[in-house]
Amino acid sequence: MTSLRSKILTSYGLSKGALLIFVAVVIADLHYLQTHIVEGEAVDDLYVASQKIRRDEKNLFLYHDPRDLEQLRVQLEVAQGALDEGTRVFAAIAGPQELEELEQALNRYSAQLNDYANHHEYTGLSDAARSAKQEQIRNSGHALSLLTQDIAQRQRAILTETTSVAAKTLMVASATVILIGFVSAMFMVRRVVRPLSQLENQLDQLAEGKVETLALPSNDKEIQSFVFHFNAMLEQIREQQNQMRRHERAAALGVLVSGVAHELNNPLSNISTSVQLIMEDDGTTREDLKKQWLSHIDGETERARRIVRRLLDTVKHPTHQMQLIGAQQLVQSAVLLIHRQLRPDLFLHIEDISDGMLLVDRDRMQQVFINLIRNAAHAGANNIWITGKQSTWKECKPVNTNNLAGDSIGISRFTHVMLIKVDDDGPGIPPDNLAKLFDPFFTTQAGGEGTGLGLYLVEEIINEHRGCIAVENRPEGGARFSIWLPLEEAAPREQEES
Ligand code: ADP
Repeated sequence: MTSLRSKILTSYGLSKGALLIFVAVVIADLHYLQTHIVEGEAVDDLYVASQKIRRDEKNLFLYHDPRDLEQLRVQLEVAQGALDEGTRVFAAIAGPQELEELEQALNRYSAQLNDYANHHEYTGLSDAARSAKQEQIRNSGHALSLLTQDIAQRQRAILTETTSVAAKTLMVASATVILIGFVSAMFMVRRVVRPLSQLENQLDQLAEGKVETLALPSNDKEIQSFVFHFNAMLEQIREQQNQMRRHERAAALGVLVSGVAHELNNPLSNISTSVQLIMEDDGTTREDLKKQWLSHIDGETERARRIVRRLLDTVKHPTHQMQLIGAQQLVQSAVLLIHRQLRPDLFLHIEDISDGMLLVDRDRMQQVFINLIRNAAHAGANNIWITGKQSTWKECKPVNTNNLAGDSIGISRFTHVMLIKVDDDGPGIPPDNLAKLFDPFFTTQAGGEGTGLGLYLVEEIINEHRGCIAVENRPEGGARFSIWLPLEEAAPREQEES
């Protein structure tokens, strides 16, 4: 069977068939019972008539009332009628011999009664002869009564037996229907519900990023078609995403190149101007002025070199030296590298960093914290707080994704992540600048001090580690950078990829 439709129809047909059989069995059962009850009525009639015969006979002999004789004859007719009507039943219950006996008993009784009645209206006989005739009739009546009673008892036994057979048949039919229902339900669960719930599980896993494509949970036509088209759609989406990424990268490169050209142009034209002045010197220029031009050239050369160095840091794709390191240790090692360059009145608080293990390139990741701390210091913060906690992505993912950078899709595939926050009590970031902060060459530092590549580099490094970073202003004042990184259990995937 290769389609869900045929499986559902089979199961439905099975249940319906079982129900129809059950109804047929119930009807047959009722008919069987009814036949026996109807047949039993003739036996009952004969038994009741024989009892009445005995009663009327007693009255007749006691009161000699002709009405009793009349009654007696009526009952005899009833008995004869019942016997004629139920000959087949009587033969089945009592057998031909007994039936004959019964008929004879009835005839004998009838004859004796007629004989008794014919003698002078009960007066043409001597007392002794009358008593003898009465005794004869009584004996025949007694025999008739015994015979009918015996047959009535057997009929009752047969009826009891019939009822019990009917009840058993009904029970067997019910049990069969329940069994067929159960089998059909099991069939549905195994062949229809289970593949569907497996498909549902796979979709969940797909949403969580644990699997890349759907596997076939069964060979049903509908499921095959769904999985095939769904996987094809996923493939298309991924291809489109890759294309988009390629376009974005090309666009970013364009921005970078024009930024570099612009940034380098400034120091170069300053150098050129100073060199021009020196070259045009006819020996009359003051020494201190010449020194000033030379130091200007030196400063601008240094600035150009700084830009190039930063740029190289950013664009080169170093071979990652991934290692397992605790989050606390990582932050502390970064702080050790920078703390000498910080103002003495700047306090660095490293608080509550739960020691989740991260698989990172330590040097690259240290650079992230160095840049963030340096930026906060430049902005004029007096305190910097670094905190970290382990959590699930679902629980701690960014609420506001406006100022989010990095690989937020990559990290959403990990269940457990480390969230590290770098807060400061500086002036914060003007809302208009928030969205531009990670752009290359965006800087607010005047006089060629800043390169605008610090946060760009931060984003690149976080991206390489499949993490993401968000920036916001703290309600209490100052800036907050939040970094999400995948925790160790899921990180080996990155190692393979790097
Ligand atoms: P640079 O430090 O060379 O200017 P960055 O990319 O590191 O380049 O930073 C870009 C800009 O972001 C800075 O010029 C500054 O205006 C802003 N910025 C970064 N960090 C902070 C902070 N903690 N507080 C206020 N402004 C910040």
